[in-house]
This record gives sequence, structure tokens and C-alpha cells, in this order.
Amino acid sequence: MFIDARNLENGHTVEADLCIVGAGAVGIAMALEFDGSNKNVVVLESGGFEFDDRTQSLYQGDNVGRPTYPLEHNRLRYFGGTTGHWAGHCRPFDAFDFSVRDWIPHSGWPIKIEELEPYLERTQPLLGLGKYDYDSLDQYAAQLGFKTLPLDSGRLISVMKHQSPPTRFGTAYRQQLQDSKNVSVYLYSNVLELTTNESASHITGAEVACIDGPKYQVKAKEFVLATGGLENPRLMLLSNKSAPAGIGNSHGLVGRFYTDHILIRPALDVSLSRTGFNFRFYTNPHKINGGQVFAIMTAAEELTRKEKLTRFRFHLYNVRPQFGAAIGGVFSDLDGAPEVAPLGKEPGTYIQVHMAMEPMPNPDTFVRLSDKRDLFGQRKLEVSWQVTDRERANAHRAIEICALEFGHMGFGRAFAPMLHKPDEWPAAFTSGKHHCGTTRMSDSPQTGVVDRNCKVFDVDNLYIGGSSVFPTIGHTNPTMNLVALSLRLADHLKEKMA
Ligand SMILES: Cc1cc2nc3c(=O)[nH]c(=O)nc-3n(C[C@H](O)[C@H](O)[C@H](O)COP(=O)(O)OP(=O)(O)OC[C@H]3O[C@@H](n4cnc5c(N)ncnc54)[C@H](O)[C@@H]3O)c2cc1C
Repeated sequence: MFIDARNLENGHTVEADLCIVGAGAVGIAMALEFDGSNKNVVVLESGGFEFDDRTQSLYQGDNVGRPTYPLEHNRLRYFGGTTGHWAGHCRPFDAFDFSVRDWIPHSGWPIKIEELEPYLERTQPLLGLGKYDYDSLDQYAAQLGFKTLPLDSGRLISVMKHQSPPTRFGTAYRQQLQDSKNVSVYLYSNVLELTTNESASHITGAEVACIDGPKYQVKAKEFVLATGGLENPRLMLLSNKSAPAGIGNSHGLVGRFYTDHILIRPALDVSLSRTGFNFRFYTNPHKINGGQVFAIMTAAEELTRKEKLTRFRFHLYNVRPQFGAAIGGVFSDLDGAPEVAPLGKEPGTYIQVHMAMEPMPNPDTFVRLSDKRDLFGQRKLEVSWQVTDRERANAHRAIEICALEFGHMGFGRAFAPMLHKPDEWPAAFTSGKHHCGTTRMSDSPQTGVVDRNCKVFDVDNLYIGGSSVFPTIGHTNPTMNLVALSLRLADHLKEKMA
């Protein structure tokens, strides 16, 4: 059921078995897992059913590192969370993403893909995706009447992505939660801080406020933070009455290792000089097996290891290039690419290639509290997104490999600004709106904030849901992976609370 918290008495106390803070992808996925159980579950959501300026303003903060999207633009603060914005691209992490890569400091997850796989499969219907199959790309292509690109499989490979409609969690699951007997979603409920016992090892409650009042508190046996990759650390840092550095922050790691994909859009423009290959399997999603799929390109694991790269992916788009007239004269002359094609006016003459790249986990890339205050008087966030020369070299090499492949395949010629100015990031570079790493998972409190079960070290009843627990982020989009982790966390909590 839904409860409008603005109608509660000031000072009211709500009691529950489980309290989930935030009703975005994670909060709603977890709430659905408990629907129909014998547990009394309370979900605290900052917003209502619609976007509201004042509520959204609580997300304001400052980017103090590399300029990137304003903090109140790259996430949404109402029921359904940022799934009100998301584009629906889905692919699970690869086994490789969980391993320690000795050329990437701080890499390696405490869990392996096998522990997540059953949950990844269960995310498919939740996200409006078809059959769980990411391995049968060639069969899917053939079934749909396409071919995959004839790539040198030692360098680049094609892999499958699924396309969600995209599922807006706030719309798709509203009725089920409305009908729930044991899950209560409290709307307009901003959690200002978590309170603890004296040693900050046990959460005693959540302090909650509506924008125009009242204030109330929630007492529960277990708590889950599901407020997104920026707000999870903010709430932990704001909860500092018993632990001055913030809950779970005895090693100063809450908010550190902030990680987001590095996007270069476009990374390359390819002018097609021969026809006969249908790129639509790459440029458009296609209906099959109860869902929609399309193909992307990524580096072969072998190449990534050999050249000590981070992971990257290329999406193809069938649009006119943005580089204008310059394109005719400055095509990269790579690997015997055929003659420069005439500039065509027809759609389909060009393929634009967008790159998303995994950064290195970096303790100097962080989020922290600033001295500015939001409308509750709570300290806002400062986000320092940084990129390093090593990442620039990585991006340069990735784009070069892609250009070489287009040369090899003989489809046309590639133009990439970054290849001409390798010492500079191109203008079309930004971050991915995938907020990760700020409460990273580890087997040790010296190197992480949560353990393999997403429990905050040293706090016996606080768990974190979402991409803030990712220690590394691979090349893929986060949501299906973070929802899978949430379903796994729900199972863990069910067992603990049984
Ligand atoms: C434009 C855009 C496109 C994207 N496209 C993709 C894509 O194609 N594929 C992909 O995998 N991912 C994509 N993403 C990312 C995706 O939206 C997120 O990974 C996902 O929504 C994260 O889920 P979450 O539950 O952790 O956080 P959110 O969905 O952001 O939910 C957090 C919830 O917590 C609530 N909340 C916050 N603070 C408080 C508080 N103090 N008290 C109470 N409630 C609070 C918020 O109101 C919100 O409802 C995209 C994101 C953007 C912005």
C-alpha cells in the first residue's frame, strides 16, 4: 500500500521488520521480493508519483572535478527513481569483470559471476526483457536475417545487448505495491539520517522528514540503503552522530573510488564506401524470443589482457557525422582501408561509433559533503570525477583498434578526432550517468565498505543496494547487474530474518 507521509502526526514512529530507503530500481525490486511474505516491510521514498522541483532540488550539488552532468540532472528523485529516465540497455557483466586484473590496481570482486547468474536470469522479466540468452548472437542474427560483422576475433568481437522497453519501475510496479498487504511505501519521505547505538555498530532508526512537515521516525530490524550511487554515501556521511566520519566509514572509504563510464560520443565516424552489409542488427533493436536485442562491439578478452586495457564497448548509430566538411580530407589511413568514399547525403552512408569505457578504480575520485545546505539544512554533495593520462591512452588505443577493424573489414574509412590529437580528450567526452564504486564491495574493511553480502562492515543490520557497491564496472550498463545484486540481497535477508 502507499501512504502519504504528509498526513502523519509529527513525531510519529513507524515499526517494521525491514526498512528500504529509496524506491528506484533497487528499492522496488527488493520490495517486490518481499511482497506476500510474513515480513512487515517499509519503503521510504523521497518523492511522490510525479516529478517535483523542490524534491528534485535535494539532489543539487557541485561537480568539483572534471565538468560533467549537474547532479540534479543525472538522476530522478520520485517513485521509480532514475528508471523514469533510463534508456533500457542491458547486458550482464562477463566472468572476466569479477577477476583480479593485475594491471588494474584495486580490481577484483569478492564474488564470482556464478553467484550472480541465477539472479541475472531473474531480472529479465522484471526489466521487460525476453529470454535470458546473451550467447547466441550469430543464431539470433541468422534468425532475424542479418549477419554479424566479420571482425578479427582476436581484437574485437560482437556481443548481444537486450533492450528494455524501457521499463519504468514507478509505473510498471505501482499497482502490485498498491495491492500489497505487507509492503508499505511511504511517499514524500526524505530520510535525513540513520541513527545508531553508541558504537555505531547497529542502526536504531531512520529520521524522516516531509518537505513541509511532519517529521517522523522508522524503527526496523534491518535497513537497506537504495538511494543510488551518489546518495548512498551521502546518507552514510550525514549519519554522523555516533561515528563522526559517518556510518561504516572507519577506513575513510565511504564516497571514495567514485566510478563512472567514460563516454566518447562519437568516438569515430565511418564513411561507408561499399554497400551490401546491413548494419541494422547493430544500429536498431529487433524483436525476438519475447524481447528485443541488438549487437555491440567490444574487445576480445585476449586483447584486453595482452595490451593491459580496461574494458570498452562500441555502439553503432546510423546518423550523419558531426565533424562536418572536415571529414572528407582527414580520414585515418588505417590498415589499407579503401579509397575515401564520397560524402553521401543518404542515411546509411555513415556509421557513427560511440564508445563507453571502464575507468581504473581511483581512490582520488570521490564524493563528499560540501558546506552548502539543501532545503532541510542537510549538507549537499561535492563530486570529484577525474580521468587520468592512463585512461586517455586506453581510450586512444581502443579507438585505434576500432578504426583498424573498420579498415580491415573494408567497409569504409574511419575518422576519429582522438587519433589526430592523442594528447587531448576530445570535445565529445563525458561521463555515463552510472554512479558506482562509492561503497565498494570487498572481503576486507581495509579495502571496501560492504562485504560480499552487501552488508556494511562493522554495522550488523545495514545493507547497501545498487551500483555504489561495484568495485569495478566493466563496459556494460549497470542496471540489470545492480537489480540482480538486489535480488541476491533480498534472498540473503530472507534467510537472515527467517
Ligand atoms: C539518462 C539516463 C539513462 C540511463 N540509461 C541506462 C541504460 O540504458 N541502462 C542501464 O543499465 N542504466 C541506465 N541508466 C542508469 C539507471 O537509471 C540506474 O542504474 C538505476 O536507476 C539505478 O537504480 P537505483 O535504484 O540504484 O537508483 P534510482 O533509480 O536513482 O533510485 C533511487 C531512489 O531513492 C530515492 N531517494 C534518494 N534519496 C533519498 C532519501 N534521502 N530518502 C528517501 N528516498 C531517497 C529517490 O527518490 C529514488 O526514487 C541511465 C541513467 C540515466 C540518468
